[in-house]
Amino acid sequence: MIDQYGRSINYLRVSITERCTLRCAYCRAAEGDCPKQAELAVEDFSRIAAVMASLGVSKIRVTGGEPLLRRDVAAIIRALRQTPGIAEVTLTSNAQQLPGIAAALKSSGLTRLNISIDSLNEDKYRHLTGGGSLSSVLAGIDEAIAAGLLPLKLNAVLMRGVNDDEIDDFIALTKSRPLDMRFIELMPMGDGTHTHKRVPNDEILAARPYLTPLPPRYPGQPSSDYGIAGHMGRIGLISPISHRFCGNCNRVRVMSDGMLRPCLGANSEVSLLPALQARGDALLRETIYNAIYHKPAEHAFADAGFSPTKTMSRIGG
Ligand code: SAM
Repeated sequence: MIDQYGRSINYLRVSITERCTLRCAYCRAAEGDCPKQAELAVEDFSRIAAVMASLGVSKIRVTGGEPLLRRDVAAIIRALRQTPGIAEVTLTSNAQQLPGIAAALKSSGLTRLNISIDSLNEDKYRHLTGGGSLSSVLAGIDEAIAAGLLPLKLNAVLMRGVNDDEIDDFIALTKSRPLDMRFIELMPMGDGTHTHKRVPNDEILAARPYLTPLPPRYPGQPSSDYGIAGHMGRIGLISPISHRFCGNCNRVRVMSDGMLRPCLGANSEVSLLPALQARGDALLRETIYNAIYHKPAEHAFADAGFSPTKTMSRIGG
């Protein structure tokens, strides 16, 4: 459907759990263990997907928290993929639990996968993620490629003096593997003590004149893509802070607690719970329609006094 600013909204991100296996430095480092909260059930996600599809959504990304923590993640993927009108179901994961299940996820209907990886150094990775295992991520990457979850996208959030010395190592991963390496600018959410370490993506570009602009893989994608002669994969720069792309935003988010958030970088949310408890889908459709129509024009990250109410791990990055 078209929102009040003329943007076509066709992409839903569903955070199926707020729980996460990791405590990344810039995300939820300050939080303790995540207690299990009430989470929407497969049937709820399925109803939401059907209504969203009737309003023009054709692509759904499953995220979290860490989506692989949910035992019914394959059932959720299958239900979403079987929804008429939903052409693609993708997933974003830290890959800690991916080894051993990539092929099963593909069989349940998963189209593609994004994997977060903020360092290629085992000790640094463990430190940055609050105890994660880099070798699990690397094994997960190999499995995802073998399972045909392509093109595989890897996401890194750079922080100056922490992992910006690894940019060329990350880029080298694209040489002989079918994967895209994407650098996401650090957003002022979660642990705000790190935002001064943000590395603007223009710096990556300026220092590497051999990066050649490529047309986007998909309309409305947030990354600007670049190629390197002789490399199988691409480099993607996602720059919500230095080059905001709100005018092309095509997405809304639903969280595991039943809240619909029309914009990642604005605190307003609408609860879908009353509509999910009602009989029939009329109220659900009306609630979703109104929330999408009133999606904010732009994120509020740069607004004076803006303070995000939730970390990315709760909203679904
Ligand atoms: N657990 C999954 C994972 O690690 O990919 C999915 C959820 S995680 C919140 C999704 C993405 O959000 C990760 O790539 C993470 O790096 C990113 N993220 C979290 N906080 C962020 C921030 N403040 N700025 C930019 N990206 C952030």
